[in-house]
Amino acid sequence: MKNSVSNGRVRVRFAPSPTGSLHIGNARTALFNYLYAKKSGGKLILRLEDTDKARSEKRFEHEIMESLRWLGIQWDEGPDVGGDAGPYRQTQRVTLYQMLAEELIHEGKAYPCFCTAEELELRRKEQLERGLPPGYDGRCRSLTEAERSRFMAEGKPFTIRFKVPSDQVVSFEDAIHGFISFPSNTISDFILIRSNGMASYNWAVVVDDAKMGITHVIRGDDHISNTPKQILLYRAMGLVPPIYAHHPLILGPDGRRLSKRHGATAVSQFRREGYLPESLVFYLVGLGGIVASDGPLKGMSEIIEAFELSHISKGAAIFDHKKLTWINARYIRELPLSSMERHLAPFLESWGVTKRFNQEKIRQIIACGRGNAQTLLGFEPVFRIFMDSPVFKDNFFLTPEERETARDILEFFADLCKQVVQLDEEEYIRLAKIAMRKSGQRGRRFFMTLRKALTGTDHGPELVKIVPLLGKGEVMKRLKSALEKL
Ligand code: GLU
Repeated sequence: MKNSVSNGRVRVRFAPSPTGSLHIGNARTALFNYLYAKKSGGKLILRLEDTDKARSEKRFEHEIMESLRWLGIQWDEGPDVGGDAGPYRQTQRVTLYQMLAEELIHEGKAYPCFCTAEELELRRKEQLERGLPPGYDGRCRSLTEAERSRFMAEGKPFTIRFKVPSDQVVSFEDAIHGFISFPSNTISDFILIRSNGMASYNWAVVVDDAKMGITHVIRGDDHISNTPKQILLYRAMGLVPPIYAHHPLILGPDGRRLSKRHGATAVSQFRREGYLPESLVFYLVGLGGIVASDGPLKGMSEIIEAFELSHISKGAAIFDHKKLTWINARYIRELPLSSMERHLAPFLESWGVTKRFNQEKIRQIIACGRGNAQTLLGFEPVFRIFMDSPVFKDNFFLTPEERETARDILEFFADLCKQVVQLDEEEYIRLAKIAMRKSGQRGRRFFMTLRKALTGTDHGPELVKIVPLLGKGEVMKRLKSALEKL
């Protein structure tokens, strides 16, 4: 088998199993691969590792691809876009795995194993009882040709195992962790093809990586223990293994692998919760030490520029939801309004905003709300201010004295409004100053009263931004109905 697809160009792959949504830990792996491909002028391949038929689902394939696209990660070859090294789903490559495993059998580097699951379990227990590390004892290695043929003829189910060479040292220079080595004697003969005909993870990955000309394997460091097995398989096939880069996994604040118990983990969930792809990308690379999370925000092209495989930090990446939210709020403030409109589009649709306002008005309201929103969901109350008349709650102005003051403030302000043609920012500031002086109320009390009357809540964007957007007519209407309630 020749490793000829790469022609000296970098080829990396992201190889998710479509057994669930795209976890942000896996998204980070995809991102590192994408950044490396872009940085080095190489190609990114998307390969679906769907050998676990019971757990793999089409809807997860779609969701994973959709989440990757949303993050801005594009692949050059994959199940949807095709490519010369396909097919890109492992279930479509079964014959290849079988054929190559049989080649290894012919070369004496692999063998059929007829041990049943029960026998293996029994022997595993015995090993544990005797304080030995559990692992296959190599029993079927020494079957004679006649025994093998007889078992085959009897239709006995079998797996294909790799004959792990003894007394070898398997070492590699990991691009992130540095030199790593394993003695081959700690690895027992592992399965290449299961009794149901499916390839094992290690075999399918090696066959695919080799056939697809993968030059760099960038993946989570939970795979480090698989790497010596994979290197041995390359050696058995007379091939040079790729360069490996194992990055640390994302952990929860308790130091355990990030999982649902820590909150949201799926990219799609962050998306639904109003996080921007820009924020997730920046946060995920920041978590790997590629950019300074507290530093200036960057777009994808700047991140590509900053990316170095060897700069990915070795230390565990602890997920900090608050920090991500803080970064999200920064992007919400700093992105061009046109990008914000694009990101908000599906939300606006579901809030009924697009039916009510034209694009210009929508853009103005986004500009008005972006200083306060931490996520896109934070724009809903801002749009509501302009869509719905405020509902005054009974406890808004509590004491009779407060109500008296509120009446003064609102009446003075309403009177002043009547006299102007248009309530733009400047006019609003001028009128507010006069009304404050006349009512003898300053600062907080004044503005809070006005805010409650105009918006029905006690928080939100600055009034100086809200008032001109409401416009004189609506402001007068709201002041009038607030005064009626007092
Ligand atoms: N399907 C494997 C996973 O999701 C891929 C591992 C690899 O990159 O080799 O963990």
